[in-house]
Amino acid sequence: MSVDPNTPVLRNCIRLPLPEDELIEVTAKAKDYAIMHGAAMRSKSNFSEDSLNFAPFVLVPSSFPRKEFEKAVALQPIINRLMHNVAHDEEFITTTLAETIKVDEFTANLFNIYRKVLAHGFTQANSIGLLRSDYLGHVYEGCAIKQVEINTVASSFGGIATHLVQLQNFVLRELGHADKLPNMPHNNALAGLCDGMVKAWDIYAKPQSVILFIIEDVSYNICDQRFHEFYIRETYPHIKVLRRTLTDVHREGKLGLNKELLLSGGLEVAVIYFRAGYEPGHYHSQDEWDARYLMETSLAIKCPSIQYHLAGTKKVQQALAQPAVLERFINDPEEMKAVGKIFTGLYSLDDNEAGNASYEMALRTPEKFVLKPQREGGGNNVYGVDIPDALKRMSRVERSAWILMDLIHPPLTKGYMVRPGAEMPPTIVDMVSELGIFGVVIGDADHIIHNYQAGHMLRTKLSTANEGGVAAGLGALDSPYLIDSDDEDEN
Ligand code: ADP
Ligand code: MG
Repeated sequence: MSVDPNTPVLRNCIRLPLPEDELIEVTAKAKDYAIMHGAAMRSKSNFSEDSLNFAPFVLVPSSFPRKEFEKAVALQPIINRLMHNVAHDEEFITTTLAETIKVDEFTANLFNIYRKVLAHGFTQANSIGLLRSDYLGHVYEGCAIKQVEINTVASSFGGIATHLVQLQNFVLRELGHADKLPNMPHNNALAGLCDGMVKAWDIYAKPQSVILFIIEDVSYNICDQRFHEFYIRETYPHIKVLRRTLTDVHREGKLGLNKELLLSGGLEVAVIYFRAGYEPGHYHSQDEWDARYLMETSLAIKCPSIQYHLAGTKKVQQALAQPAVLERFINDPEEMKAVGKIFTGLYSLDDNEAGNASYEMALRTPEKFVLKPQREGGGNNVYGVDIPDALKRMSRVERSAWILMDLIHPPLTKGYMVRPGAEMPPTIVDMVSELGIFGVVIGDADHIIHNYQAGHMLRTKLSTANEGGVAAGLGALDSPYLIDSDDEDEN
């Protein structure tokens, strides 16, 4: 992606560059700190279950406007409630996804589970959402945050993000900048998310029951998942966490007399936390879909339940960005206004008048847009000049599996990205940061029992990269250094 040369650069936390000898020393320390504190991942290129690489990270925290950070934090309980209401609106989900499921097989499979569960009635009325709302600042509106997407399934990095604040605190102290620490907000993501799971476990109210993590066949992001597991065991010693793949659940899972989800040895599952199941590759055969359905019909409290999963699709986000639609889910006019402001233009590509108009608009000015399918996990979008070709290859009906979104233009920061295997010392690069705010919401169709904001994460990518997948090597973990707009710009 090309970056507008006039893009503003946010003032840095500390003056860069660092003297080379100091940079080499602190980077080496920071890498070891990262490995020793679990800011780490399994290597994809050199996989071993017995070892870890440090996760890519940004050496010095990246600046983020304080006002916008605080806005995102304050909005989270409203967004939690919004998503909870959306997930429980059968009519809205059904009509919104009607065209999409005709052409998108994966969403159709999820929707079929939803339809079957609806037909038989929900065994478990409560759901738990561990959400993450992602934002980029938009320079054409004074760096005001715009929502990139909302995740309702497998919202990751709460564990590592919590520890990354400590890592960057360490670096700042090493560099003699302890005075900067008060501008790094505390991050309680790990505790907030895990306490949410335990609140759901409490609602289930069976002392012997366990929490089940649904995992991929191979977990590269193992530390983030283990942090959750270890936090739960250490903070609530009476609760056991199990890890199973969808294939495992197909093999050993069954329902008890009251539709309890039972695993081998008769272990009863109170809460199911999905860290897999959000992309087609996680379902190798019908077996995995059967396992998903079995869990969905069980008494266990799902994170997310199928309706929550569907509420997080890009298509639903696009529908929500229309003011008339938002009105259906948010009563308070002030709240509606505040949420409306974080949405950027999102357009349907359904085969109707409005959809065809967006199609024409994308062909005319592709550089203004991102094209997104109904997928999670990064690497699926089409950007700018690549959009016309992609659209032209699709039939009219196929287009309805995609949505079009205004490209957000974030401000730049400058800093050192540290990656396993990369050249030492790192060089200063232009970067952009995406803020994720975590939220926890628990309840049923009629009542919300718990609703709170639960920490944050910052992912920073090279300004020239379209996406910042951390495992893909273009992104790095980071945490915000809050700056005020009246700060002097030292650059
Ligand atoms: P996924 O579900 O794959 O994470 P996202 O909608 O989060 O899908 O898109 C992936 C990445 O693409 C984001 O993290 C961001 O870097 C970039 N991106 C997505 N939408 C936009 C947008 N409207 N403007 C600029 N960048 C975007
Ligand atoms: Mg994303």
